[in-house]
Amino acid sequence: MWRRLQTLQRLTHRYHGTPFQRQRGSSNCNYGNRALSSKPESGVPYKTLKSDKKTAPKVIPQEADVVIIGGGSIGCSTLYHLTKLGVTNAVLLERDQLTAGTTWHTAGLVWRLRPSDIEVELLNYMRHLVRDVLEEETGVVPGWIENGGLFIASTKERLDEYKRLGTIGKVYGVESYVLSPKETKDLYPLMNVDDLYGTLYSPGDGVIDPAGYCTALSRAATRAGAKVITDCPVTGIQVGIDDFGVKRVQGVETEFGSIKAPIVVNCSGVWSPHIGKMADVSVPLVAMHHAYVVTERIEGIQNMPNVRDHDASVYLKLQGDALSVGGYESNPVFWMTCDSRQFSIESFTPDHKPLMGESPELRGFYLGCGYNSSGMMLGGGCGKELAHWVVHGRPELDMYSYDIR
Ligand SMILES: Cc1cc2nc3c(=O)[nH]c(=O)nc-3n(C[C@H](O)[C@H](O)[C@H](O)COP(=O)(O)OP(=O)(O)OC[C@H]3O[C@@H](n4cnc5c(N)ncnc54)[C@H](O)[C@@H]3O)c2cc1C
Repeated sequence: MWRRLQTLQRLTHRYHGTPFQRQRGSSNCNYGNRALSSKPESGVPYKTLKSDKKTAPKVIPQEADVVIIGGGSIGCSTLYHLTKLGVTNAVLLERDQLTAGTTWHTAGLVWRLRPSDIEVELLNYMRHLVRDVLEEETGVVPGWIENGGLFIASTKERLDEYKRLGTIGKVYGVESYVLSPKETKDLYPLMNVDDLYGTLYSPGDGVIDPAGYCTALSRAATRAGAKVITDCPVTGIQVGIDDFGVKRVQGVETEFGSIKAPIVVNCSGVWSPHIGKMADVSVPLVAMHHAYVVTERIEGIQNMPNVRDHDASVYLKLQGDALSVGGYESNPVFWMTCDSRQFSIESFTPDHKPLMGESPELRGFYLGCGYNSSGMMLGGGCGKELAHWVVHGRPELDMYSYDIR
């Protein structure tokens, strides 16, 4: 894989001089145009609209049936699906803007094949949502691009695994093809296939735009009656003991007042342990730095499928006529103080499965976090399952491996 990357690197170098623009979820990261702080901007001798925003008084409801904390991929999807189940007295609180956490800089890859039937179903639902539903329902384009996906096998064992994935997929109507190195070269002429054993090609894979996706979800939810309140940090969780001696969540506190609610859903990404701590609930995830680079223009890369090399632990996402290349390192850098506002890195759990469902420590307090770099592609399906869990006490699919209990 690294040889393939080096080939690409050489290509970029040859055409443009500089190999890569480096980006990283750390202090030297570009945060785009989102509001960074409530302080006046340095070097500007007057108050800006940005700095006024956080101090503006907010009207928040005194009570709700459900409060969701966090306006990223998972929070927005859960809100949307709650309204589909008739829960319209629901409020989403986001301390900044929607997508301001990890979601805004996602690669947005949506594969169709994973090694579990439930996950294939979750992915199928996500694709259906962004491809067939959201734009028609809201007029907002979730930015779905269906350029296909290519999984690379450098060993026979890996190719055998991909054949199994393809077989599971068949049951769920996922089209895929096992390709030889030569067929792979025909499909992706820029790729060096000399050290390939074979590939698995899934033409229905694609990418989504996180901003369009979350805007569409929140627009549909607010049209149905739910509320989305941004620039409203949750500062505390109210907990009480009911008549049976059971510890139950009672609501949330914010800088603008409190909201009484029998159900609170913690969708605050890497900050979920911090929110959990407010309610004495342990949330077993850690944040890790995630490095990615965006190449300059690469001639001939347009319309190529996205690539995943599981052995090299690298993905290559097509970004127009360039690539966004990210990876997972065997010696990762942990970020331990994830209550900090300044970082939006990705969260990981001990078993590499998300944390979902009602906390065993506190009735009415649900988790929807710990997505291990899959929170976009799993977001649609997991938001749907979480909403069902809240309303009916159980998810629709067998979510055993994600269940916090
Ligand atoms: C570089 C990169 C590439 C990725 N690529 C992919 C990919 O290709 N495909 C994929 O599926 N996934 C990918 N991921 C992972 C995916 O982006 C995340 O899993 C997903 O965005 C997590 O969404 P979330 O809603 O759980 O968290 P977040 O988006 O972090 O949302 C949590 C929200 O909670 C808010 N919050 C925190 N504290 C409070 C508080 N006290 N009060 C109110 N609000 C609060 C935050 O401001 C934030 O907006 C990638 C991640 C990175 C970093």
